[in-house]
Amino acid sequence: MTSPLPPLRAWDGPLTRDLVLRPGDFGLGHVPERLRPDALVTSVCGFCSTGCGLNIHMKGGRAVNLTPAADYPVNLGMACPKGWEALAPLAAPDRGTTPLVQTGSAPGRFAPVGWEAAARLFADRFQAVADRHGPDSLAWLGTGQIFTEELALLGAVAKFGMGFRHGDGNTRQCMATAVAAYKESFGFDAPPFTYADFEETDVLFLVGSNLCIAHPILWQRIVRNRRGVQVIVVDPRRTETATAAAALSPDPALSHLAIRPKSDLLLFHGLARLVVEGGGVDAPFVAAHTEGFDDFAAFLADPAYAAEAVAAGTGLPVETLRTLAALIGKGSGKRVSFWWTMGVNQGHEATRTAQALINLALLTGNIGKPGTGANSITGQCNAMGSRLFSNTTGLLGGRDFRNAAHRAEVARITGIPEERIPSENSLAYDQIVEGIEAGTIKGLWIVATNTAHSWIGSKTIAKTLAKLDFLVVQDLYPTTETARLAHLYLPAAGWGEKEGTFINSERRIGHSKAVSPAPGAALSDFRIVRLLAEAWGRGCGELFRAWTTPEAVFRLLQRLSAGRPCDFSGIGEGKGDPYRHLDEAGGIQWPWAASQKGEEEGEPARERRLFERGENRFPRPNGKALFVYAAPRPMPERPDAEYPFLLLTGRGSSAQWHTGSRTEKSAVLRKLRPGAIYAEVHPDDARRLGLGPRDSVRIVSRRGSVVAAAYVTASVPPGHVFLPMHYAETNLLTFPAFDPHSRQPSYKAAAVRLEVL
Ligand code: SF4
Repeated sequence: MTSPLPPLRAWDGPLTRDLVLRPGDFGLGHVPERLRPDALVTSVCGFCSTGCGLNIHMKGGRAVNLTPAADYPVNLGMACPKGWEALAPLAAPDRGTTPLVQTGSAPGRFAPVGWEAAARLFADRFQAVADRHGPDSLAWLGTGQIFTEELALLGAVAKFGMGFRHGDGNTRQCMATAVAAYKESFGFDAPPFTYADFEETDVLFLVGSNLCIAHPILWQRIVRNRRGVQVIVVDPRRTETATAAAALSPDPALSHLAIRPKSDLLLFHGLARLVVEGGGVDAPFVAAHTEGFDDFAAFLADPAYAAEAVAAGTGLPVETLRTLAALIGKGSGKRVSFWWTMGVNQGHEATRTAQALINLALLTGNIGKPGTGANSITGQCNAMGSRLFSNTTGLLGGRDFRNAAHRAEVARITGIPEERIPSENSLAYDQIVEGIEAGTIKGLWIVATNTAHSWIGSKTIAKTLAKLDFLVVQDLYPTTETARLAHLYLPAAGWGEKEGTFINSERRIGHSKAVSPAPGAALSDFRIVRLLAEAWGRGCGELFRAWTTPEAVFRLLQRLSAGRPCDFSGIGEGKGDPYRHLDEAGGIQWPWAASQKGEEEGEPARERRLFERGENRFPRPNGKALFVYAAPRPMPERPDAEYPFLLLTGRGSSAQWHTGSRTEKSAVLRKLRPGAIYAEVHPDDARRLGLGPRDSVRIVSRRGSVVAAAYVTASVPPGHVFLPMHYAETNLLTFPAFDPHSRQPSYKAAAVRLEVL
């Protein structure tokens, strides 16, 4: 057994205190980002996956204000509070302006160093770890918050150049389930919808989605629906969305299905059975475009999915189930769409639940037509870019590391020697955390995510990270819970200080630009990774000499996408500049292949959905979508005599974003959100416990306890308590269970008890 690396202070040798990257350092220089001289610069919001267009107002070469873009096909002149305040986090006083190295043995004490020293420390220290413990001992955790070009460079440099064996991202916490479900059912991670489907649907299921709060602009797209849409919110809580749905829908009684937590898979199987029994199957569609229907129908014949059993399990009346099945079934003549977010994705049987929704769409032919689809709404601004190009658990362009032909393609297109491309997938996020705990992962590079706050059951995560021989955190702020634990902190430029593209929920690639200089010596993630690649030595820098600018990488990604279901090789074709084409078109949804030109008179339509044409609609080998299903399983941690309440978690307000590392920098957003953590408790429970409004209540799980202000409200069912996810304390309570197919954490259900203080 090898001894641990010596402490950083004793190990790292002399550190230079020059705070600016000197011209010529690693051949890159500290070239400022390309700031625009225009008075108005178009861009795309860098918070959520809606992907709103923003007009940035410039004065003296820097951003002074912004307004939502009226002509952008996503938001049509609207923005939520986060979008309006998107410039505020850039001006925060605690921005990182120089690399920092931990001094002494306690975390949180740093000394500034120059970029050259930081890059050499990065390379020397990680290489020492790998030389002692092997390449399996290095991992990185990325994000859905940086540009696709940056994600691709990060993943390619880490895996092919530096030899990190394992990498994953915070998208594991939000979107891994949708990826796993689509890949297995459709053959590719392909959300099929376009936002116009919100306006063109007749029956709209929102499952585990508080859209009014989480994606407010998308809720506005539903409000624009002129077809008399019936919105059906499936959620144990009476959320803001459930309330708004009642006001919008012709049948308010159907607008909220307050099912028992985690009974959604049972509900969708039960509805599928009623559709089959009631003759609601679109038989020609199923015969032509799907595989496995007979087996699925036999599975549904189990008594567990009879209407009475499903009613007992979900808490919904049988009559409601029959009404829903009639609405969904082909005979209704309705356009039906199924939309889901975290209430599905963050569950212990999440992938099969998402696939149960896909099955309903397939059964009834509600796919590939206006107002239909089995539609996963993503979370982060570039979760979709990460899904295709992060090079973590999937190879660049939605490929598979285990597929030799895929590795050969990537090698041919990028010029990366094939032997540098691993033939195995990376460990997933939870397995990387386990590896740190077990001592097999010794070095970790975290980019733009706040693991110490956001990881499930986080009581021990700080202790786990402290076991690392070397922790590097690259972020806008050295003050996040995670950055404070770093041995080396690297200051990153934020959205608005760099250029690149995001891919939003409806597959729209949007172009975002530098409108403000980064503070001090902070660099874009793109430049940081290039710098580190050069400093790494061992032939790494040479591999990426052609990856010079975000635009050069975008063109490379276009070549990597060619011939794939996500093909966007046609962007910029005939125009010379793909970024300008994105600006002029209002973003372009994939696919937009070179070969597609002419089909739509050379320009992509503003709204396009998948699976509309042809016999082989789905990208599986036989062109058919697959029915995938499994029986429901019990919740991993159920309430009992000692912990009788079920904890639900979710988004608190539209002014908050995840761990608050950016939104908390805006005085406006701080005013718009609750001042401190609060717990929603049903009035019956409050009465029984003697709990008054605004009393303090302690919520206790087997892993920790949290004190919160009580918010007595009937929005939660009796026996349940709701906490917003944005406060670090919430994850002291959550139960670390994981969906076996997507390995996504199950944040939404844990057993707790309440103690009145
Ligand atoms: Fe639009 Fe999302 Fe940005 Fe709000 S946070 S403006 S909804 S992209």
